[in-house]
Amino acid sequence: MDIFSQVVQPSQIDVPSNAVADPIFQTSVYAFHSVKQVDAILTGLETGYTYTRGKNPNVEALGQLMARLEGAEGAVVTASGTASVLAALLALSPEPASIYLAREIYGGTVGLCRRVLEPLGYRVQWVDGHDPGACDAVFANGPGVLVVESLSNPLGRVSPLDTLIPTAHARGIKVLVDNTFATPFHVTPFKWGADVVVHSATKFIGGHSDVVLGVIVGSEQITHAAQDIVDMAGFTPDPFAAWLALRGARTLALRMERQSDNAFKLARALETCSAISAVYYPGLPSHPDYEIAQKLFVRGFGAIVSMRLRQGFDAVERMVQRLQWVRMVPSLGDVTTTVSHPVVASHRELSREERAWVGIDEGVVRISVGIESIEDIIADFRQALEAIS
Ligand SMILES: *Cc1c(COP(=O)(O)O)cnc(C)c1O
Repeated sequence: MDIFSQVVQPSQIDVPSNAVADPIFQTSVYAFHSVKQVDAILTGLETGYTYTRGKNPNVEALGQLMARLEGAEGAVVTASGTASVLAALLALSPEPASIYLAREIYGGTVGLCRRVLEPLGYRVQWVDGHDPGACDAVFANGPGVLVVESLSNPLGRVSPLDTLIPTAHARGIKVLVDNTFATPFHVTPFKWGADVVVHSATKFIGGHSDVVLGVIVGSEQITHAAQDIVDMAGFTPDPFAAWLALRGARTLALRMERQSDNAFKLARALETCSAISAVYYPGLPSHPDYEIAQKLFVRGFGAIVSMRLRQGFDAVERMVQRLQWVRMVPSLGDVTTTVSHPVVASHRELSREERAWVGIDEGVVRISVGIESIEDIIADFRQALEAIS
C-alpha cells in the first residue's frame, strides 16, 4: 500500500473487554460487513451501535447510573442541562400548551421558555410553588407542564413536592422537576410523583467544572420520546463528556456528604457575621422551608449557602476581591468552594420586578461549598467579611 493509503488504515488492535475503566468510544460511527446488519440495527431487530447522534456506550453508561440513582426506568443524556430541559418539555408536551414556571426557577430555564418556546406558541406563566392553593387557580388556565426545582437557586427554597405535584396532576398538568441542586443524594422526586427529572450534570453530577452535560430521567415511555427528540434535534452529548461525568459521578455520594456537611457548618458560622443581614440554608431553623426540607431531604440539605450583604453590591464586590482563595465562578457544584452573584449571572434573564418577587437583589451572594477543610473555608469568608464591615 502507498503511504497515502497506509496512514488511514484502521488500527488492528483487539479492543480488550476486561479494562477496569470504561474505554471511551470516541467514534461518530461504526463499520459493518453487511448491509442487512445495518438495516437490522436501524429497524431495532438487532441491538448495536451505528451512529453516535443516537446511541453511544459511554452515554448509555451515564444514563444507566442516573436512572438507578433517581429510581426510574430510563435516562437520556444530552449535550447540556438546558438541552435536557427543552427535550423533556417537548417530550411531555409535543404541542404548544401552558408552561407553569415555579417562581424560583433557574434564569436560563426562564430564557429558554420565553425566547424559544413562547414564539412556538407555548404560554409561559409564573406560579408560586409554595402556595399550592394559589397554583391551583393558575393551573385552571389549561393543561401543560409545571417546571419546578426541588431545591432552588440561590435562596435554597424547597418546593413542597408532596402537595404541589398532586395539585398539578389533579388539573392534568405534568410535572418536570429540576433536581440539579439537591441531587439524588438528598432528594428523589419520583418518590413524590414527578413525571420527569432533569439535571444539569455540569454541576454536582460531574462535580469538577470540566464538562457541560444534561440528563433526563423518567419512565420508559417518556425517556423513549425524549431520546427520539435528542436524536432528531441533535442534542447529543460528546462521548468523552459522558465519560468524564460518569467518572465524576463515582464520587457523588462522598462529595455531597462532605459538601453538605461543610455547607451546614459554614451557614451557621456566617449567621454570626455582622456584615450579613440574612443567611439562606434550608437546614437552618431560620429558613422559611426548614419544615418541608426535613420531610423531603435525606442525608443533609445540599452544598449551596447564600447570604445577603447589608451594604449591597459594593460590599459584594469588595468581599469577592478580598477572598484569598475562594474564586468567583458563575457556576456551581465543583469540589472547590466558589462564589457567584445571581443578579449578574444565573438570574440576569429576570427583570428587576421579577427578581424582587423571587427575593434576590444585588446584595445576594451564592456560595457553592466544596470539599476543603471547613476551617479553611470559614477563615477565608471571615477575613473577607471582616474587612468590609
Ligand atoms: C446550570 C443549570 C441548568 C442549565 O444547565 P447547563 O448544563 O448549563 O445547560 C439548569 N437548571 C439548573 C438548576 C442549573 O443550575
